[in-house]
Amino acid sequence: MKLTDVLDNLGLDISALDRGDLSVTSPIDGGEIGRVTAHSAAQADAIIAKSQEAFQQWKLVPAPKRGELIRVLGNKLREHKEALGALVTLECGKIFQEGLGEVQEMIDICDLAVGLSRQLHGLTIASERPGHRMSETWHPIGPVGIISAFNFPVAVWSWNAALAVVCGNSVIWKPSEKTPITAIACQKLFEDAAREVGGVPDGLSQLLIGEADIGAQLTADKRVPVISATGSTAMGRKVGPVVAERFGRSILELGGNNAIMVCPSADLEMAVRAILFGAVGTAGQRCTSTRRLLVHKSIYEELVPALKKAYQSVKIGNPLDAGTLVGPLIDRTAYDSMQTALQGVANGKVTGGERVLSDEYPDAYYVQPAIVEMPESGQTVQHETFAPILYVYPYTDLQEAIRLQNDVPQGLSSAIFTNDVREAETFLSAAGSDCGIANVNIGTSGAEIGGAFGGEKETGGGRESGSDAWKGYMRRATSTVNYSTELPLAQGIEFDI
Ligand code: NAD
Repeated sequence: MKLTDVLDNLGLDISALDRGDLSVTSPIDGGEIGRVTAHSAAQADAIIAKSQEAFQQWKLVPAPKRGELIRVLGNKLREHKEALGALVTLECGKIFQEGLGEVQEMIDICDLAVGLSRQLHGLTIASERPGHRMSETWHPIGPVGIISAFNFPVAVWSWNAALAVVCGNSVIWKPSEKTPITAIACQKLFEDAAREVGGVPDGLSQLLIGEADIGAQLTADKRVPVISATGSTAMGRKVGPVVAERFGRSILELGGNNAIMVCPSADLEMAVRAILFGAVGTAGQRCTSTRRLLVHKSIYEELVPALKKAYQSVKIGNPLDAGTLVGPLIDRTAYDSMQTALQGVANGKVTGGERVLSDEYPDAYYVQPAIVEMPESGQTVQHETFAPILYVYPYTDLQEAIRLQNDVPQGLSSAIFTNDVREAETFLSAAGSDCGIANVNIGTSGAEIGGAFGGEKETGGGRESGSDAWKGYMRRATSTVNYSTELPLAQGIEFDI
């Protein structure tokens, strides 16, 4: 699949992607695939002003009509699924099947948002006063800033944008500086959809291309009431306080340190498949990648060798080739941080982790996924290394496993493999996993868009996608209507005039 064909299919002006100050490389071979122009601070300022204007118009459009735009966007994504999926693979290095999967997620969230556009319902609440009616209504809130990470270069935008737009908001997207071309392609599809639908204000969706500084400018601007930021905890630690300081709302989707726990009654074949894909899929570069494995000591000697055997069958290589399961790391920095993490293993046994295919791809970073077996007394690894490293610990009883699972600063995804209903329900209960995602007999990655997505603690607390996540993109008004001839005050207050 050639880049030029892909860009052509997406209707992008290839020559416009050939100049600019920001070099974009493909992790497949490290070669440059384009140059884009970063926005200046003054341009960013104008983009935000334009977004505000678009919001003033769009908020008055009835929600089901707003849904029509997202319906057409979903159809454009269906039409260009292969090309956009391939572009995702070329720019961020995930295997083609995952590139397609990411576009499918975009289509799914569009479908969800279209339905939602007729379901942005409030509440009627019983009033304590006679002849009064109380209600709660949801209204558009304003421009929504979307900051996204390299590893889900397109889906994260759509989780936010599809909901924000049907909720009556404008959006400004600051994609990762490592993946701006996929963002340019999505923006083009959005503009095509807007033209087809008609009546869509100019600037309803805009891009802000650049590095962290331009993201920081967006974050600090009080004209943008909601900032949805996806990326590392280090980024969230900067963004969160800046947004809070100006009383904005942030939706933070940050790093994970996800564990699978395998209990004595588990179906081990299923568990091995789930652990393998969770740990090595996307070369360990998903926020929900499985990073820790807690194995009951009675099955340790059966499960861990089976897992190691499965690791040997994993095909590492060009993510565009059919059959490849593990593509490259995003860049040299990612490779270095993987090596640093492995060198720092003091009392564990490391299998794998070495660089492969360096003759074929001297400027790209393919690695053998690593397993690190930790002794019983091992310290739980506390931070996320964004690479395929799986730390394996034996445990003795469920309470200990739950304690270890929760004993990290992050709280994104977790899973238990068991056929024991007591264990499963304990894991899902208030006494169990403290994560935003808790699964039974399913791995940690691969969430469906119907549920709310996000995690606790240093993962940031934000929720996106399904369930009632749409409320994050609206403001709530509580209204009381008095249709009586009296004016009773709340809390029984009376006074004479
Ligand atoms: P990153 O934090 O380096 O960058 C993410 C985005 O934040 C980029 O667009 C970057 O330019 C921007 N940014 C950085 N500093 C900023 C600042 N001070 N102000 C505003 N914007 C700033 O992350 P990455 O390397 O692209 O992605 C990997 C990380 O993202 C991992 O930690 C992963 O777990 C996390 N992630 C989380 C989720 C989730 O939903 N929880 C999803 C995907 C990725």
